[in-house]
Amino acid sequence: MAGEPQADCLFCKIVSGEVPATVVRETDTTVAFRDINPQAPTHILVIPKVHYPDAASLAMAEPQITADILREAGVVAAEEKIDGTGFRVVFNTGSGAGQTVFHAHAHVLGGRGLNWPPG
Ligand code: C5P
Repeated sequence: MAGEPQADCLFCKIVSGEVPATVVRETDTTVAFRDINPQAPTHILVIPKVHYPDAASLAMAEPQITADILREAGVVAAEEKIDGTGFRVVFNTGSGAGQTVFHAHAHVLGGRGLNWPPG
């Protein structure tokens, strides 16, 4: 069923605690944890507890949870003190855009200068 945990999904396993992660925040609908391969001094992933393969499909099915992710991105940025200097929220969507884990997630990046356009 849509949104149900997937047995072969790494991020579903982080939600359940089966795979360890450095969790910085958790709500009823989201988990935020440090990226294992950080691309900036602060690099945190905010994921929904429900399983959707990407942010676009999550937004179609669960607009409130999508809003929760954006809110949590801002809360995490404030807690990490990168809100003053600026931070970036990225949803890689599709393998051509660099998505490697097919469970919706927001990257929250900051703590260094961020170029535009991204690579
Ligand atoms: O956007 P993309 O799908 O490539 O992002 C997946 C992210 O998940 C990567 O930045 C990767 O470092 C991170 N990751 C993680 N912990 C894992 C496996 C992947 O933080 N156990």
